[in-house]
Amino acid sequence: MNNKLLVIGTMAYDAIETPFGKTGRILGGCATYIGLAASQFKTQCGLVSVIGDDFEKAHLDLLIGKGLDLSGVHSIPGEKTFFWSGKYNNDLNSRTTLETQLNVLTKFEPVVPEHFKNASILLLGNLDPNLQIKVLNQMEKKPNLVVLDTMNFWIESYREKLNEVIAKVDLISINDEEARQITETHSLVKAAKKLMAMGPNYVIIKKGENGALLFDKDKIFCAPALPLEEVFDPTGAGDSFIGGFVGHLSQCGRISFEEMKAATIVGSAMASFTVQNFGTKSLEKLTIPSIKERIVAFKSLTEFEI
Ligand code: AMP
Repeated sequence: MNNKLLVIGTMAYDAIETPFGKTGRILGGCATYIGLAASQFKTQCGLVSVIGDDFEKAHLDLLIGKGLDLSGVHSIPGEKTFFWSGKYNNDLNSRTTLETQLNVLTKFEPVVPEHFKNASILLLGNLDPNLQIKVLNQMEKKPNLVVLDTMNFWIESYREKLNEVIAKVDLISINDEEARQITETHSLVKAAKKLMAMGPNYVIIKKGENGALLFDKDKIFCAPALPLEEVFDPTGAGDSFIGGFVGHLSQCGRISFEEMKAATIVGSAMASFTVQNFGTKSLEKLTIPSIKERIVAFKSLTEFEI
């Protein structure tokens, strides 16, 4: 297994409204959050994405400065970058999409750079399932781990293609609402079983401030979310989670349920930073000692003797 991690997803501009404030156009996109989270680990992380000519150089410099390989990021002249705006409800656990402007995404033909075709981990971030398949098909051989993330937007309109992708991946990571939507099942344990019956050997169900569940065919691991005094903006929490998850697995070079348990805690730690500030601000400033400190906090949160 090599330490190459390939990520496909959106690079975007977002406008976010939470009970604590409203942003203008800020940097977002699932590939952006995933890349920033994964860049904290010893991994060669490449992004496959698309941007318009309105994408700011300062934002490209930020990602390059974090060591991310952007040779798979395609820029389309005369077109605008993907734009998403959303508004969170008071509980911060649910949100409404106000606007999705696909822009460059409608013209995107993903091309995996030659040097990433042998990546050991492929993360198919939240995107059109047709594009996710195209990237999977360009890999030289099947990666050691293929992870899929998706959201209601794609579940509602691209169901058939999405089922095709689900059948081909090793792990699916989605939130509780999406798991129920795909499987039409209320119980998350049953939903995870139904998802595994569709293809993946592992399922992660994210439950926002209630943590995350990791399943394989016979085991369940439950990770808490860190109780925080202040949560400003949950945008990108799921992407930061999965970025930290695959970043950890890529760094340690082992794919097993036991290692995924640790990766789930690492991912939860990364998500806990993201929600403490608007957009990517927390991830941009993150340091290794602060990540280590937070993982220790997670450990002591759940440790007990009986
Ligand atoms: P999360 O909060 O983890 O679901 O991720 C939020 C990010 O997903 C935002 O930065 C958005 O730009 C991006 N996003 C929103 N809608 C979509 C979509 N339909 N496809 C891909 N990315 C999206």
